[in-house]
Amino acid sequence: MDKDTFLQRVVVQPNGCWYYTFKARSHGYPVLSDEGVKVLCTHWAYQEWVGPIYDDMVLDHVVCDDRECVNPWHVQPTTRGENSRRAYAKQTHCRNGHEFTPDNTYIQTHSDGTKNRKCRTCHRAQMKKYRTKHD
Ligand SMILES: [Zn+2]
Ligand SMILES: [Zn+2]
Repeated sequence: MDKDTFLQRVVVQPNGCWYYTFKARSHGYPVLSDEGVKVLCTHWAYQEWVGPIYDDMVLDHVVCDDRECVNPWHVQPTTRGENSRRAYAKQTHCRNGHEFTPDNTYIQTHSDGTKNRKCRTCHRAQMKKYRTKHD
């Protein structure tokens, strides 16, 4: 696989997105086979044109948010950790709408070391429900 072959298979969209037309897919993402190894087209293009990607990195679409797009300049590498940290920071309320204030929050640590914020109000409500059910 070289850049020319890759580009021959790419159709550039009016908005600058690259669609890879040689259809092979993995989880809905376009993939290619480079010397027998399956790689995501976006990863391949990024490494050819922009720079290396390390193991714990994922590419986020930052320009177009189009999973079909393999344009290496439409993505930005983030580490998996960063990704979830960002999602985490965005979350200011629990799913029932209680605010995560220091008083209303406790941290649950899972066996694999990941941490989760929990809402005390919801926890209390759950406990109450549990008790009424089992009284
Ligand atoms: Zn794009
Ligand atoms: Zn809550």
